[in-house]
Amino acid sequence: MRYQRSSELFAEAKKYIPGGVNSPVRAFKAVGGEPIFIKQAKGAYLYDEDGNQYIDYISSWGPLLFGHAHGPVINAVIEKAQKGTSFGIPTEVETDLAKLAVNMVPNIDKIRFVNSGTEACMSAVRLARGYTGKDKIIKFAGCYHGHSDSFLIQAGSGAVTFGSPNSPGVTQGTAKDTLLADYNNLESVKALVEANKGEIAGIILEPVAGNMGCIVPSEDFIKGLREICTQEEILLLFDEVMTGFRLAKGGAQEALGIDADIVMFGKVIGGGLPVGAFAARAEIMAHLAPEGPVYQAGTLSGNPLAMGAGLAMLTEINQNPEVFDNLMQKTEYLHKGIAEVLTEKGIVHQINRFGSMISVHFCEHPVVDFASSANGNNDTFKKYFHGMLEQGIYLPPSAFESYFLNDAISYSDLAKTLEAVRKVF
Ligand SMILES: *Cc1c(COP(=O)(O)O)cnc(C)c1O
Repeated sequence: MRYQRSSELFAEAKKYIPGGVNSPVRAFKAVGGEPIFIKQAKGAYLYDEDGNQYIDYISSWGPLLFGHAHGPVINAVIEKAQKGTSFGIPTEVETDLAKLAVNMVPNIDKIRFVNSGTEACMSAVRLARGYTGKDKIIKFAGCYHGHSDSFLIQAGSGAVTFGSPNSPGVTQGTAKDTLLADYNNLESVKALVEANKGEIAGIILEPVAGNMGCIVPSEDFIKGLREICTQEEILLLFDEVMTGFRLAKGGAQEALGIDADIVMFGKVIGGGLPVGAFAARAEIMAHLAPEGPVYQAGTLSGNPLAMGAGLAMLTEINQNPEVFDNLMQKTEYLHKGIAEVLTEKGIVHQINRFGSMISVHFCEHPVVDFASSANGNNDTFKKYFHGMLEQGIYLPPSAFESYFLNDAISYSDLAKTLEAVRKVF
C-alpha cells in the first residue's frame, strides 16, 4: 500500500495528539483521506515515510523561498545551535536581522520579533489600539490573521475548512470589537466606518489574500482603504505574514505601491523557523514596552537560532534579488499550463495568481472574495488533490489555501506537474 507507514503513524499520533496533528489543516479533513507523514525534504522535494517523493507546492506554507534544507539557512542554524539556542538576554544577531528587515521594507523604522504570525497580528492590534486609544477593528471575511480570539471571526484557511468560522471559546465581548467587511468591497468598509465613527483603531487585511485561495485586491479597493484610513485617523494594518519577503523585497507594500501603518511578518522572515514580527514608523513603535505603555513580551523571542535562520534567509534574498521574478515566471508558466489542460478537458475553473501565490478554483465566476471562493466544486477539488498526490505532487489540502512556489522547483518539475494534471483529468 502506497501510504502504509503514514497510515500507521497517523493512527499512533491520534492516540496522543488531538486529531493526530498540531495544526488542523494538516489532517486532510477538507479533502478526505489521511495525511502523509514526511521523513525528510531537500530542495523542491518532500519524501514521505513510505519512500514516496513529491514536488512540494506549499513550501511549509510559505517560508521556504529557496526550497527545503537550503544550505545557507541550515548552516546558520547549525552554527548558532553550537553556541547555545537561547539566553533570554540580548544578542547582536537580533539587531542584524532588524536592520536588514527595516532596510528592505518601506515605511518601517523599527521592528519587534515574536515567535509566530499569530503573535505578530495579535500584538499589532494591541499596539494599534494603544496608539489610537480606540477599541474596534475592521477585518475582512476570509482573511486569516492567526488564531488569536479577535480574528476568529469569519477567518479563512483552516478555520473555514472546518465550517466553524466563529470558534467556541471566543467570547461575545471580544467578537463585538471585530467588525466584518467583504474583501474587494469598499462600500462595506465605508458603511462600517460611518456606523462606528471615531471608534475604529485599525483596518487589518491580507494585502494579497492567501487564506481563501489567492485573491488579488482591486486597485480601487486597496487605494480606497488607504484614503479612508488617512481621513478617519484609522491605522492600516497589512498582514504580510504570507506576502512579506515573498511578493517582493518590500512585500505587498512594494508590489502594490501602497503604504501601510503597521506591517506584520511571519513565514519567510524566519527561514523555516518559528518567527513572526511587527513593524511600523518609530512614532508608533515608541508606544511599545519598554519604550511605551503597550505591553508585549516573549521568553524565546529573538532567540539566536530563529534570528540566524531569518538573517540567512533575508541575506539570500538580497544576494539573489532575481528570485522574485524567477518565481513569478514559474508561477505564470504553471498557471498557463493548468488553464490549458482544464480548458481542453472542459473543466470549469478560475485561476488566481499574484507573484508566487496561485490557486485553482473549480467554479464559473471570478473569485474575488470569501463568498465567491466558497463557491467552488469541492468534489472536483478532492479528486484533483488526491489524484495529484498519487502522481507525486503535494498541493495544499484545502481549496481555501494558496500554493507557494519555491525557487528549487525547476521547469522540468513544472512540466511533470502539468503532465500529472493531464493524467488526473
Ligand atoms: C500563516 C498566517 C498567519 C499566522 O501565522 P502562524 O505563524 O501560523 O501563527 C497570520 N496571517 C497570515 C496572512 C498567515 O498566512
